[in-house]
Amino acid sequence: MARIVPYLPLNPLLPRPKGDKDAEGMRKQIPSNNAVTLSCAVPSGVLEALQERMERTGETLDLAVSSCLAEALDVEQHSIFQVSTSGALVQGVYQAATTIGDVRHHGDFGLGTFVGLDGEGILLDGVCYRAGADGTLAEMPDSTPAPFWVATRFHVDVTEICENILSWEDLCARLSAMRPSANLLAAIRIDSIFDFIHVRVACKAEDGVSLVEATSHQAEFQFENIQGTLVGFYTPSYARTINVPGYHLHFLSADRRHGGHVLELRAKSVRAALHTANDLHVVLPENAAFLHADLNEDPAAALARAEGAHQGSAPADGG
Ligand SMILES: [Zn+2]
Repeated sequence: MARIVPYLPLNPLLPRPKGDKDAEGMRKQIPSNNAVTLSCAVPSGVLEALQERMERTGETLDLAVSSCLAEALDVEQHSIFQVSTSGALVQGVYQAATTIGDVRHHGDFGLGTFVGLDGEGILLDGVCYRAGADGTLAEMPDSTPAPFWVATRFHVDVTEICENILSWEDLCARLSAMRPSANLLAAIRIDSIFDFIHVRVACKAEDGVSLVEATSHQAEFQFENIQGTLVGFYTPSYARTINVPGYHLHFLSADRRHGGHVLELRAKSVRAALHTANDLHVVLPENAAFLHADLNEDPAAALARAEGAHQGSAPADGG
C-alpha cells in the first residue's frame, strides 16, 4: 500500500515536462483557500496508474488526485458555470435568471451582476458580495436573484509573482504570458496591495436599456495603497457572444469595504493565480427579455466600450 499526501509541490518521481522550463518555477502549487489536505492509503496499482496519468497529462499529484476524485464523484472541476451571456447583457437583459445560491452551488469563485444591473458582484472563497454604486459593499444571501453570473471552483494550476505592474494593459500582457493557450478559458485570482486601482460600479438600469447606455453613467472610484483581490476570467475572442472577451476582473478589498469592476491599476508586486478551464456550462435564461432579445449582433465593440476605461470620464473620489 502506498500513501498519497496531496499538495506536494511537484511529484519528485516524474521528469519535468519537456520544453516547460518556465513552468517549473511557476508551477508552485498552492492550495486554494477551500482545499483540505487528504492523507489516505491506496493500492500500489492505483498509485502506478496515477503516476502514468501524471506523466501523460503533466498534472501534479494534488491536481491528479483532485481531478480523479472529481470525475468519479461527478464534481465539476476545470469547468466554468455561467448563467446568461455577454450578448444578452449588451442588449439590456437584466431580469432575474438565477439566484446566488444556485451560482454558489456551481462554484466558490466568480463575478456577475444583479437584477437591473444594480451593482457589481464578486464571489470569493464561497462568499458573494455586491458593490453598490453608492460605494457600499454587502454580503449577499443565497436568495438574491441575478441576471448574469460566471463561476467556478477555483483550483490553482499556475501561480506567479509579477513585479511592477504599470497598467491594466501591462497586467493583461503578464497574464497572457502565463496562459498555455489563447483558446482556453481561464479563471484568474490576483492578490496584491495595489498602489492604485480604479473601479466602476454599474448603476441600476431599466430592462432593455443597452449595456453601453447603462454604463455611460456608472459610478467610478479610485483607491491608493489598498490591499485586495481581483477575481475574474479570461475568455477567448471567439467566445465573445457568450462572455466578455479578454480579461474581466472585479476587485474586492481585503477589509471587505470596497469593490467594483476593474478599469485601471498599478502595483509593485502581485501574486497571480490561474485556473485553466476547458469546459463551459452555460445556462440560458427563459425569461421574456432573453427569449425576445436579438442576440445575433457581434457584441465585441459594445463590450469594449461598456467594460473598458471610458475616455474623459471624471471618476468620483472613492477614498
Ligand atoms: Zn464586470
